[in-house]
Amino acid sequence: MRKNIVAGNWKMNLNYADAQSLMYQLLEYKKNNQTNCEVYIAPPSLYLTKAKDIFENGEIGIFAQDVSEYQSGAYTGELSVDMLSSININGSLVSHSERRLYHGETDSHANRKIKNLLDKNLTPIYCNGENLDQRKNGDYLEVVGNQTKTALFTLSAEEIKKVVIAYEPVWAIGTGETATAEQAQEVHAFIRDLIANQYGKEVADEISILYGGSVKPENAKEIFSMPDVDGGLIGGAALKIEDFSKIIEGFN
Ligand code: PGA
Repeated sequence: MRKNIVAGNWKMNLNYADAQSLMYQLLEYKKNNQTNCEVYIAPPSLYLTKAKDIFENGEIGIFAQDVSEYQSGAYTGELSVDMLSSININGSLVSHSERRLYHGETDSHANRKIKNLLDKNLTPIYCNGENLDQRKNGDYLEVVGNQTKTALFTLSAEEIKKVVIAYEPVWAIGTGETATAEQAQEVHAFIRDLIANQYGKEVADEISILYGGSVKPENAKEIFSMPDVDGGLIGGAALKIEDFSKIIEGFN
């Protein structure tokens, strides 16, 4: 069956000392607690090698926040799948809404990045979600459906099974406004149905679909209890061990 996952997206936060200190706290937590979900973090890329050193036994999955759509060459500032693979990084977030908003990323970019990652056996965490206008207009299912099809439907059944999807309504990210558990479930079930129609139910049932957008210790358990919600992609609340660990315990 599919995995339950709690993933922390650190975004552009924490200096090196603070990042290391949070990693050691997480390591300590993982050593002392049985968790009912996989735990991943996506620290700034500068800290990825350190993260691999600290979690040398794979206690936590280490992800990049972004990866290039190109293989190698004259792409200043970019990070390739090969580079991630060469230091045993587990995968990368793909097309987070902040990449879409500030860097003009589209689902066609996402599609290429996802394919590159899968070709090297790395796990893509593909992010999608509607903005506030689209939610208010009632267009959100159509928006999320089109995003999902463009980013994923060129993959084979074997490939798509390895993708983790993070549904993150843009209006809920960093705003303190969370989708209700029912709102999340509606979209998650819709995404899973869409995949089932294209690839069959067996494939759709294997794909972990995470919810992201103002997940907090107070709401994690309820959101994770929904049948099609398989965990969370956590921003702000992933930066403090007290909050992140309580969210992980939403699966207890
Ligand atoms: P947030 O961010 O938890 O701070 O809303 C989630 C995300 O952007 O992945």
